[in-house]
Amino acid sequence: MSSAELHPDDVAGLGNRLAGELVAPGDELYDQYRHVWNGMIDRRPAIIARCRSSDDVVAAVNFARTHGLLLAVRGGGHSFAGFSTCDGGMVLDLSAMRTVQVDPDHRVARAQGGVTWAVYDAATHAHGLASTGGLVSTTGIAGLTLGGGIGWLQRRWGLACDNLLSAEVVTATGEIVRASESENPELFWGLRGGGGNFGVVTEFEFRLHPVTDVIGGLMLFTADRAGRVMRAYRDYVSACPDELTTWLSMVTAPAADFVPAPMHGRPALAVLACHCGDPADAEAALLPLRDLQPEVDLIGPMPYPQLQSVLDEDLPPGVRCYLKSGYTPALTDSLIGVIAEHTSAMPSPASTFDFHHMGGAIARVHDRATAFGDRRSAFCFNIVGVWDQAEDDDANLAWVRSFASALTPFDTGGVYVNFTAEDASVQAAYGDEKYGRLKALKQQYDPTNLFKLNQNVIP
Ligand SMILES: Cc1cc2nc3c(=O)[nH]c(=O)nc-3n(C[C@H](O)[C@H](O)[C@H](O)COP(=O)(O)OP(=O)(O)OC[C@H]3O[C@@H](n4cnc5c(N)ncnc54)[C@H](O)[C@@H]3O)c2cc1C
Repeated sequence: MSSAELHPDDVAGLGNRLAGELVAPGDELYDQYRHVWNGMIDRRPAIIARCRSSDDVVAAVNFARTHGLLLAVRGGGHSFAGFSTCDGGMVLDLSAMRTVQVDPDHRVARAQGGVTWAVYDAATHAHGLASTGGLVSTTGIAGLTLGGGIGWLQRRWGLACDNLLSAEVVTATGEIVRASESENPELFWGLRGGGGNFGVVTEFEFRLHPVTDVIGGLMLFTADRAGRVMRAYRDYVSACPDELTTWLSMVTAPAADFVPAPMHGRPALAVLACHCGDPADAEAALLPLRDLQPEVDLIGPMPYPQLQSVLDEDLPPGVRCYLKSGYTPALTDSLIGVIAEHTSAMPSPASTFDFHHMGGAIARVHDRATAFGDRRSAFCFNIVGVWDQAEDDDANLAWVRSFASALTPFDTGGVYVNFTAEDASVQAAYGDEKYGRLKALKQQYDPTNLFKLNQNVIP
């Protein structure tokens, strides 16, 4: 249904029922609220329901369902694929629902569905506590957790979804239900990796861990040493402790003071690290990396929320982005060759190739315990095309696609759902058994596929 078919009285009725605001084309704030993080996505919803409470969410869901509106649910608005907006339908926007309550005695945080990691980390850090969250602080806790949630604490305490204790969900019929190990356990299973398929999560309850400062940051190596460093890295991570989470990233070195001038604007290999254990153990854990004598070594102690935001400036809202992703079991010599070849031809200095080391606590969770797709692969990789101008779209899309084809022989065929925009990859992301279970859950909670703008499980 388009905006023209929505009766103004009905829209006004919804506006009156909401404690939050209803924003429509022509309203002063419409452009501000319709935009999402990825500048490639430019859509014009008929209405944006800026919810302030679970009751608002119920009203918005009921309105979208009864009026046959296409419904997009927005937490932090960081979906690469632009799932949290739409043309002509309703955006159910939770970004005004940003409260986090921390219970330090029980080490639990309750966060509303529109909270970003910056807000969450600040609230938990005040109590010397944290749980795994995304690597860029402007990202929403909602989409990231529902898809899985890769972050700095993952090898010690699992993915973001592994720290989820319960969730409050508004279902497609407008009911408010709770999901946990003891209440609606199958729904709880599906929420931990199955994305936004089953309803709108209005509150997340997370288990917290003692984290104050971490030893973290970045090392940079010149690209001519990338092969040698990657081979050393492969041996290094095979034995590194769970307290240490690292990733490799092929980047373009910035013209910053901390970078030697000859490296400015040149391809470089970054190693990023976070040690969240006893600081006395961190030096020994990092020594093999330091022995590689990086040109830049900025790894040191810092408050955890600071590490959580060091990448924010590199990925600001409004940049154009296209990515492809996968898992690989090993960093083989031939794979290193392909990475070196394709990253030497990055058309944009803002693009990266990221190689996340998984394992640790992620792999110790039983594969069937949550819907998350792949807990066994050692590495998750991500070809991230990032650029500014629309005229550069073709070159950047072509680079990501050709790099992804070259990586096909090395990947498992699966993908992390939060790093994909392709419908065709959803079943492969979960594998047949989990996908079948997700389908049955979808049939139970959303048989008409009201929540279809996501990595969609077809009921
Ligand atoms: C700059 C950047 C950095 C990133 N870094 C990481 C990272 O470190 N680790 C990682 O794992 N991923 C990362 N991602 C990917 C990220 O996990 C996904 O893009 C995720 O979907 C973003 O969540 P969001 O709430 O911000 O997005 P949105 O665009 O708001 O939503 C994404 C999806 O989740 C659904 N959804 C959102 N809120 C709710 C809700 N309350 N209830 C039900 N469904 C909801 C939406 O309908 C949509 O399908 C990053 C993405 C970006 C753009």
